[in-house]
Amino acid sequence: MRTIPHFIGGSPLAGTGRTSDVFDPNTGKVQAKVTLGDKALLDKAVADAKAAQIGWAEMNPQRRARVMFEFKRLLEANMDELAHLLSSEHGKVITDSKGDIQRGLEVVEFACGIPHLMKGEYTGGAGPGIDVYSIRQPLGVVAGITPFNFPAMIPMWMFAPALACGNSFILKPSERDPSVPVRLAELAIEAGLPKGVLNVVQGDKEVVDAILDHPDIKAVSFVGSSDIAQYVYGRGAAAGKRMQCMGGAKNHGIILPDADLDQAVADIMGAAYGSAGERCMALPVVVPVGEETAKRLRQKLVAAAESLRVGISTDAEAHYGPVVSAAHKKKIESYIQLGVDEGAELVMDGRGFSLQGHEEGFFLAPTLFDHVKPSMKTYQDEIFGPVLQMVRAESFAEALQLPSKHAYGNGVAIFTRNGDAAREFATEVEVGMVGINVPIPVPVAYHSFGGWKRSGFGDLNQYGSDGVRFFTRVKTVTQRWPKGGPVTDQSFVIPTMK
Ligand code: NAD
Repeated sequence: MRTIPHFIGGSPLAGTGRTSDVFDPNTGKVQAKVTLGDKALLDKAVADAKAAQIGWAEMNPQRRARVMFEFKRLLEANMDELAHLLSSEHGKVITDSKGDIQRGLEVVEFACGIPHLMKGEYTGGAGPGIDVYSIRQPLGVVAGITPFNFPAMIPMWMFAPALACGNSFILKPSERDPSVPVRLAELAIEAGLPKGVLNVVQGDKEVVDAILDHPDIKAVSFVGSSDIAQYVYGRGAAAGKRMQCMGGAKNHGIILPDADLDQAVADIMGAAYGSAGERCMALPVVVPVGEETAKRLRQKLVAAAESLRVGISTDAEAHYGPVVSAAHKKKIESYIQLGVDEGAELVMDGRGFSLQGHEEGFFLAPTLFDHVKPSMKTYQDEIFGPVLQMVRAESFAEALQLPSKHAYGNGVAIFTRNGDAAREFATEVEVGMVGINVPIPVPVAYHSFGGWKRSGFGDLNQYGSDGVRFFTRVKTVTQRWPKGGPVTDQSFVIPTMK
C-alpha cells in the first residue's frame, strides 16, 4: 500500500514508525498510509529549516516575490491534478477542491506584493540630527498546524505570507488528507524556493507537542477545533511563542421579512450543505424573523434541499460529496439523533442514505431541523456536517442576540433589503466576519480572516496585512549623526522631546 511521506530538506522523506490510515471517503476504503513523525524527526526538520532560513531572509524581497509568482503559475498549471488529489482524500467535489486551491492561490498572489508590504516607516529629523526608522524582520523558523477541511487553502494562508517575509516554515497538516500539502511543497521547490525553507512533517499530537515546545520555532499558526486551538494556544504561549489559533464555528444566517427569499434560499443551500457542511464558514443555522418569514422560508428550504444531489467527488452534477471519515459520519448521525431527543422537529433526515455502487462511502443526505432552541446542545455545538437547523426569532433584536450570545463567533450573515437594519446588525453583532446578503463572508486575500470568542485565540488574523504582521517583528532604530562640535553634557534624565 502507498505510504505518504514527509517533505524535509527539499525532498520527500519516507517515515518510519507509527502510521495512520488515509481513506477514500467515496468508497470508504483505506487508500494509503501516512507516516506519523516524532520529536526526533521534527528536530531534524527544524535544524534544516533554521540553516536554510538565513540565506532565504538575505535574499531581497523582490527575488522572494519572484518565487511566489512562479509558485502561483505552477498552482494554476497543476490545478486539475491537485484538485483530484484533494477530492480523493477529503471527499469534496472537484469544483469545490478547485475553490479550496484557488482561495490559497489568492493569498500567494497577495504575498507577491511583499516588497511593498514589508516596507518600514521612517521619520527624518525626529530630533537634532536624529532620524528614526522601523524595519520588519522575519522571525526565523515558524510553524503551521492545519485541519482536514481545507488541505490546500489553509496551509497557503499561513506559509505564503510567512515565506514571503523571509521565514522558513514547518507545516504539520491534518493526518486525514496529507497528500496535497506534500505536492504544494514540491511545487514551491520547483518554483525556486531553496531546499529546507518549506517542510512538511506529517503527524498527530506527538508532533504538535514537539512543535509547541521547540525552542527554535518562534511562532505557530493553528487552525482546527476550539478545544485543541485553546490547548495549542496555551502551551505555545507558555513556551514564549507568538501564537494565532483559529477554532470552530456555528454561523447563523438571519433572514429578515423583507429579504429576497429565493436568493437567500439559493445562497443557504450552498452555504449549509456545500462541502457536506465541513466548512468553518458554513451556515448551519438559519434564523427567520417572524412567523410568516419562517413559514415561507421552511417551504422553500425543503423544496431546495430535496433537489440536492449527493454524489462521489468526481460526479460533475453532485452538489456535495461524502464526509471525511466513518467516525465523523457517525458523530453527525449521533447529533441528528440528539436533536430528535432534545425535541427539535426533524423535517428532513439525512441518515440512512446509500449511494448505489458506493454503499460503503461516507455519505449523508441533507438534514433539516425546525424549532431548534438555544438551550439545545445540538444548537450550541458545532456539528460540521450537512445539517441545517432553523431557530425561529420573533424580532430583529432577538435574532441579533443569538449569534452574539453564542460561544462561537466566526461568521454570520444577514439577508435583507433594509440597509439601516443591515448596518445596525453589522455594527452590533459579536462575531468576527459579517456577510450582508453574502452567505460565506470569507474575506478576500488582502483583508484578513479571523473569528471572535471561541473561534479565535490570539490577536492577529490570518493573511492580509495581519499575516505580514504575525510573521515579522518590528525593529525600530533611532540614529544620530552629529555634525561635530562640542561634546554634549552628560544627562541622567530619560531623553524627551521637551
Ligand atoms: P482538529 O482540531 O481535529 O485538528 C486540527 C489539527 O490539530 C490537525 O493537524 C490535528 O492533527 C491536530 N490535533 C488534533 N488533535 C490534537 C491534540 N489532541 N493535540 C494536538 N494536536 C491535535 O480539527 P479538524 O477536525 O481537522 O478540522 C475541523 C475543525 O477545524 C472544525 O472545528 C472547524 O470549524 C475548524 N476550522 C476552523 C477554521 C477557522 O479558520 N476558524 C477553518 C477551518 C476549520
